[in-house]
Amino acid sequence: MSNQSTDCIFCNIVAKKLTAHVVYEDNEILAFLDIRPINPGHTLVIPKAHVASLSELDSMLAGRQFQVAGRIAAALRKSGLKCEGINVWLADGKAAFQEIPHIHIHVIPRFVGDGIRIKAGPDYGQTPPTNELEDQAKKIRKAMDE
Ligand SMILES: [Zn+2]
Repeated sequence: MSNQSTDCIFCNIVAKKLTAHVVYEDNEILAFLDIRPINPGHTLVIPKAHVASLSELDSMLAGRQFQVAGRIAAALRKSGLKCEGINVWLADGKAAFQEIPHIHIHVIPRFVGDGIRIKAGPDYGQTPPTNELEDQAKKIRKAMDE
């Protein structure tokens, strides 16, 4: 595949220059175990082409990537690994904790008592005034048309 980055860890896994524990592979998508799993079975689903961010991801490829993530989620529930629920996580940008600049979906097995928490900011729990919400929605709608 031509559109890959030689200094990208995930592109090197796609090119078989680095080894990975592959869970699924087709012409466009590769899925493999995260080597620093949150829970056993934690899988990463990537497009084989080097795409750095969600906004650069072709919508058909995004659909394929999410479809594979769903199949892996279903498989994890049947796999015998401890899995009572699933979190699907996509970090887009450094501020959102994206560590590898090649877009990837985390499929994370979850179970009661696994100790994982998602901590919200200090203002979480407050519903903003209607006019603020409408102003935010207006800004996003406008940007979507651009
Ligand atoms: Zn890459």
